[in-house]
Amino acid sequence: LAERVVIVGASHAGGTAAAELRAAGFAGAITLVGAEPDLPYHRPPLSKAYLTGEKGADSLMLRAPRFYAEQGIATLLGDPVTRLSRDMRRVVLGSGVTLDYDRLILATGAAVRRLTCPGAGLSGVHYLRSRADADAIRHAARAARRVVVIGGGFIGLEIAASLRKGGASVTVIEAAPRLMARVLSPELSAFFAKLHQGHGVDLRLGSGVTALLGATRAELVQLVEGEPIAADLVVVGIGIVPDTALAESSGLAVDNGILVDAGLVASDPAIFAIGDAARFPHPMAQGPIRLESVQNAHDQARCVAHAIIGKPEAYAAVPWFWSDQYEVKLQMAGLSAGADETHVIGDIAAQRFSVLHLKGGQLVGVDSVNRPADHMRARKALAGPPVAAADLPTLFAERPAREGAGLRA
Ligand SMILES: Cc1cc2nc3c(=O)[nH]c(=O)nc-3n(C[C@H](O)[C@H](O)[C@H](O)COP(=O)(O)OP(=O)(O)OC[C@H]3O[C@@H](n4cnc5c(N)ncnc54)[C@H](O)[C@@H]3O)c2cc1C
Repeated sequence: LAERVVIVGASHAGGTAAAELRAAGFAGAITLVGAEPDLPYHRPPLSKAYLTGEKGADSLMLRAPRFYAEQGIATLLGDPVTRLSRDMRRVVLGSGVTLDYDRLILATGAAVRRLTCPGAGLSGVHYLRSRADADAIRHAARAARRVVVIGGGFIGLEIAASLRKGGASVTVIEAAPRLMARVLSPELSAFFAKLHQGHGVDLRLGSGVTALLGATRAELVQLVEGEPIAADLVVVGIGIVPDTALAESSGLAVDNGILVDAGLVASDPAIFAIGDAARFPHPMAQGPIRLESVQNAHDQARCVAHAIIGKPEAYAAVPWFWSDQYEVKLQMAGLSAGADETHVIGDIAAQRFSVLHLKGGQLVGVDSVNRPADHMRARKALAGPPVAAADLPTLFAERPAREGAGLRA
């Protein structure tokens, strides 16, 4: 059995892998190496309550700093792994420190995709992945009246909602004809478009950005058509790219993510890859997929910890995700890509509804807006035997409130 585990990447996936190894009884050495200077922290609030200032830095930490020492988890932060010698089972850090491993976990995550149009390098153009990025946006937003958000995906829209709360005027530019088109059904895209417009966001759908203009700072955003849009602050959220550099340089199989098998083992049996960086087979998907979610990072970390203590299992956790925008909590369960039938339950106008997605007559995903009970039912149902269309009315029926519930003071 392995005695030395080295984890590359100290975030949701890496930090959880270290904790889960100890929780599973692993008694060997664990070293968590991170390129960022911080101990593992929650990224989701960076575009939500941390960006609005409702949450402070302390609340971001995944675990209290003392946890790592108490659990005998060595942390080497602000010092990226720059080389991986698979034949020697050794990694080399930027500082020159070398670490030998029996098992290596690559949890290198992802980096933001950058704009490539003319003017992309001007100052005043921000991206959001790390706490430092969020701090820079918060700082810039204090003096910005007009914000242009490029990208109408989850991150861009959460940033738009957070900065609208702060009072800035916000324009969102999305190249596709609808919002979050990669993951949401047309009903939900339309709902979110209306939500943002209702909050005063100027939404430009089907609009590509061709250039950012300004002497040193981006002052105007030029679109394919029409007048350029004036901006005091530009924030770009156009997706992420898995960080596979280390894996690739060591000759591991990589293709839009570090390729792993059903047990999350890479093309070297001593190496696992997890989280945003990994591309893996999943029983609910046709081919290998990559998921960008906290759920996936956590559940894959647990799966690999079990494998390392000698209890390998095929990774099959039901994917789930959430997004907070204004007063709306969207929760998604399953994988609805390729669905051929949808049913809407609840009340769209009242902002309380769920979209049920079926494929070949079977439930594959449920997207819920302010209906947390539907979300929990969906996660449970998707983890069990197949659910047919005929089962849906019983499964998602409104339950009467429990007698007496809510009456007690
Ligand atoms: C603003 C924002 C909001 C989000 N909101 C949600 C949400 O609402 N719900 C949800 O489910 N998900 C959300 N996500 C996604 C979620 O945060 C990610 O899926 C999750 O962080 C993935 O964890 P990870 O550990 O795989 O990767 P990451 O969090 O990207 O961490 C990878 C770490 O590895 C480090 N690293 C890379 N290369 C090296 C190296 N060579 N040596 C050492 N360290 C290295 C990186 O610096 C980084 O710290 C959000 C993400 C962002 C940025």
